[in-house]
Parts: sequence; C-alpha cells; structure tokens
Amino acid sequence: MKTIGLLGGMSWESTVTYYEILNKEIAEKLGGFHSARILMYNVDFAELEANMMRGNWAGNAAILSDAAKRLESIGADFIVIATNTMHKLVPDMEKHLHIPILHIADAAAKRIKGDGLRRVGFLGTKFTMTQDFVIGRLKAAGLEVIVPEEEDIGLVNDIIFNELCLGKILDSSRAEYKRIISHMKDRGAGGVILGCTEVGMLIGEKDSPIPVYDTTILHAQEAARLAMRTE
Ligand code: GLU
Repeated sequence: MKTIGLLGGMSWESTVTYYEILNKEIAEKLGGFHSARILMYNVDFAELEANMMRGNWAGNAAILSDAAKRLESIGADFIVIATNTMHKLVPDMEKHLHIPILHIADAAAKRIKGDGLRRVGFLGTKFTMTQDFVIGRLKAAGLEVIVPEEEDIGLVNDIIFNELCLGKILDSSRAEYKRIISHMKDRGAGGVILGCTEVGMLIGEKDSPIPVYDTTILHAQEAARLAMRTE
C-alpha cells in the first residue's frame, strides 16, 4: 500500500473528514485491521488565510511547497492537498516535487462524468469560483460548469471564511446555499459540486434538488483508491 502525503489544516475541520474517509475506505476494501498509511502536515491556517487576503500567493506557495517536500522526504508516495483553493498553487508546488499531486478536480470530474452528467453548478471560495485552477480543469475534462450569479459569489465566499472554516454551521446560511443551488438548477445544472472542502458540513443530498458532488469525499476516496493500487 502506498503512503498518502496529506496537506491538511485548511481548515482542520475538513481535514477531519479526509482522515476519516481515507481510513474507512481502506478498511472497507482490505478488511480486518487495515488502515491508511498517512503522513500528514497540518498547516497553521491563520498564516495562509492572512496571505490569501493580502494576495500573497507566493507566500502560500512557499509554505505548501516546503510542507509537501517534507512529506516527500519522509516517504510520501503522492500528495493530497485537502482544499480546493490551494490547488491554485499546484503548478508552483510541482516544481519542487518528484512525487505527484492528486488533483481534486480530476477526482471530481471522474465521478461526475461516470454519472453521465455534463452541466454542473459549482460552489466554492471566490478564488475558486472566479479563477480557472479548478473549474478550468473540470472544463478540460469535458464538463460545463456554472457558478452563482455575481451578487451571490461574495455571500457564498463569506459563509465559507466567516463561518464554515471556524466550525460554525448556521441554518440561515444553509437556506441561502439552498436558494443558490435551486437557482443553478433553474439555469440547467444537473448536479452541484461542493467545490470547497467545508461546504459538505452545511449541505448534503437532502438539502439539494440535484445530486451533490462533495469534493472532500470524492478526493479522499480517489486518494484511498490510488493508495491501494499496486501498479
Ligand atoms: N477549504 C476551502 C476550499 O476547499 C477553503 C479554505 C482555503 O482557502 O483553503 O477551497
């Protein structure tokens, strides 16, 4: 079994879900006492959040490249970045690594295409919804991706940073997300991607009139499959 290099802490709330799914998937598949081989580097999210708000992406690239290199040096076979937003830094990070990064968009695209969907809605941070580092990759995989209307992008983003990343789950915010998902359905979305690793704490299948694709779950499941692949 391969060793997973997990970059967590962004936020730690969603890393808990990664840890649980990685172990559960491997235990289920291999049975008995099996569990995941994980090397984890949990960052101090305060530093990364401050850098993001200042637009200091180079600072975050340095922190995450250093963390990933450390995981590589102690035996990680591949890297899992447990957040969508920091996938913006994948091209920078790859320059410093000899092991692959399992991209969150690839894990999501694989499942959505497998379900035969083409047009999907996407909820994430404003960085992820308005830039191409995740959505561009989903599009390159053949999906049509729609994001909330301009005026809702700020709201979706604020709920992530002011509430979910701090572990706050509010019914009023769930109602707003439900409204936004319904609107994307009206615009032709056949499913909705939870393109932020904390959104699954707020929204589940029961809250959505269309199928939900949670990137946290899909990414962790794909990582478990990759860890168990022998070739
Ligand atoms: N976890 C979030 C995501 O999946 C946002 C936090 C971050 O900026 O990393 O995008």
